[in-house]
Amino acid sequence: MKIGFFGVGNMGGPMAANLAAAGHDVTAFDLVPALLVAAEESGVHTTDSPARAVDGAEVVISMLPSAAAVTGLYLGGDEPGLLERIAPDTLIIDCSTIDADTSRRVADAAAQRGLAMIDAPVSGGVGGAKAGTLTFICGGPEAAVEQARPVLDAMGKNVFRAGDSGAGQVAKICNNMLLAVHMIGTAEALQLGADHGLDPAVLSEIMKASSGSNWSLQVYNPWPGVMPNVPSSNNYEGGFGVNLMNKDLGLALTAALATRSATPMGALARSLYASHANQGHGGKDFSSILTQFKRQDD
Ligand code: NAD
Repeated sequence: MKIGFFGVGNMGGPMAANLAAAGHDVTAFDLVPALLVAAEESGVHTTDSPARAVDGAEVVISMLPSAAAVTGLYLGGDEPGLLERIAPDTLIIDCSTIDADTSRRVADAAAQRGLAMIDAPVSGGVGGAKAGTLTFICGGPEAAVEQARPVLDAMGKNVFRAGDSGAGQVAKICNNMLLAVHMIGTAEALQLGADHGLDPAVLSEIMKASSGSNWSLQVYNPWPGVMPNVPSSNNYEGGFGVNLMNKDLGLALTAALATRSATPMGALARSLYASHANQGHGGKDFSSILTQFKRQDD
């Protein structure tokens, strides 16, 4: 497949590299020239012109930081957007995590030009992007998701269709809101046990085999040293940043406001992560929320 790829940052870089490694002909564009040099080294062609990245492309993929970046790219601002340039029958896959309304708006504009577009935000983080084991959570017409599947398979191991356009974004933020809540719950439970003299490693084994078991305990223990090769055992470096978790919790709360859904745990999680970031931990992995529960008299 000939693929135009926009945004070769922490996630997009390895995703584009995996597409190239699977034999696709990938041409990438990013606003940061140094990232294009790195992409070249991983077998991806690059260009300094967005228009050239989509010329002749059968599939266009974007992995951008924000809704503003996505609308700017496809709908344009002072300059015309990419939708004006992309040839009919091209499939557009936006993997960015953004709000569902923006996803729907851009997909509608694409449909008006006869272009199929799906939202396909991912779960799995930078590790999953590098290993090619991401989960894609798609929203859009069934036929378009099926058309995207072979391309997504080169970058991930699970492809779900959550529903129509925007549904991928909704499912993704539901998941990440739950992730924040169970990470915080896991952290405070471990600290409570440790404050009462329990070994956090032993307590973790007990809870993993009991009704409190969850993903944070199973594969991402927040207590330093309990598990090798997780951010908590590496000074909370790498992994999924507090700033990114705050972005996703903000999207979840905005979505909850739109439907007047009660999300008390999500709201509390957002407050805790916001103050954690405000104390200077925005660049740390999200499991560092455990440090909020440490007693200062220790
Ligand atoms: P990043 O900031 O490392 O990369 C984004 C890239 O997009 C940057 O290199 C930026 O220069 C580029 N960009 C911005 N506007 C552009 C444009 N108009 N054209 C081309 N390139 C443009 O961010 P990331 O960590 O790779 O995250 C990308 C998306 O994936 C975000 O929406 C994020 O929420 C989501 N996500 C990230 C993770 C993670 O662990 N990092 C996990 C899941 C989902």
